Amino acid sequence: TGIVVAIDGPSGSGKSTISRRVAASEGLAYLDTGAMYRAATWWCIRQGVDLGDTEAVAALVREMPLEIGTDPRQPAFVVGGEDVGVVIRSTEISTRVSAVATNLEVRPELQRRQREVIAVESGRGTGGHEARSGGRGVIAEGRDITTVVAPDADVRILLLASEEARLARRAQELHGTADEAAVAATRDQVIRRDADDSTVSNFTTAADGVITVDTSALTLEEAVAAVHQIVST
Ligand code: C5P
Repeated sequence: TGIVVAIDGPSGSGKSTISRRVAASEGLAYLDTGAMYRAATWWCIRQGVDLGDTEAVAALVREMPLEIGTDPRQPAFVVGGEDVGVVIRSTEISTRVSAVATNLEVRPELQRRQREVIAVESGRGTGGHEARSGGRGVIAEGRDITTVVAPDADVRILLLASEEARLARRAQELHGTADEAAVAATRDQVIRRDADDSTVSNFTTAADGVITVDTSALTLEEAVAAVHQIVST
């Protein structure tokens, strides 16, 4: 059976880019669990439900017709036939996703679907789905993968980065520059989402057996190399 790699980290830690790069070079499938919470948020807004209505949101998410792409070069997300890959990265979704992610009735449903993908892609599935990676393995990335979704993963990594480094990266992503104004414009959004998410996970300490990689002082290439080395040994 294939390897299961679990990677957690806050926004701006570089986990998506690093996970995709390592998965692509190792021929592994890639699961972006944040995209699932984003897709669920988009779906609930689309259905016109009040995100504060936890019961209604949970019921909708249980019925969400989500297709999860696991190709690290092109992880497509489709909801009800609609490609949501771009729209789930919008500021509206980014600012509202925590309301859905902290819904305690939503999480078990998405965690169940995540475990299903991990089982299939690592060749431990019970049949039905076909593994994109040929069952070679999977890198699953998020906030609670090392602790809740796949605590028995073969490799578990927590990516950390200083607030300064995370803000600079997000500013670069959102505004194409990390100058003072761009960082200031990013600060509110990043800090607020951290606070909103804080009931879900505490990022500062790694669970037992989890390898911590601080990417603050690393270039992207260096961070990819560090994670690559942990995964391949
Ligand atoms: O990683 P990304 O920034 O796309 O995650 C979006 C949001 O999804 C996070 O801010 C968090 O609210 C939620 N999330 C979560 N558990 C995960 C992954 C993401 O609650 N495993």
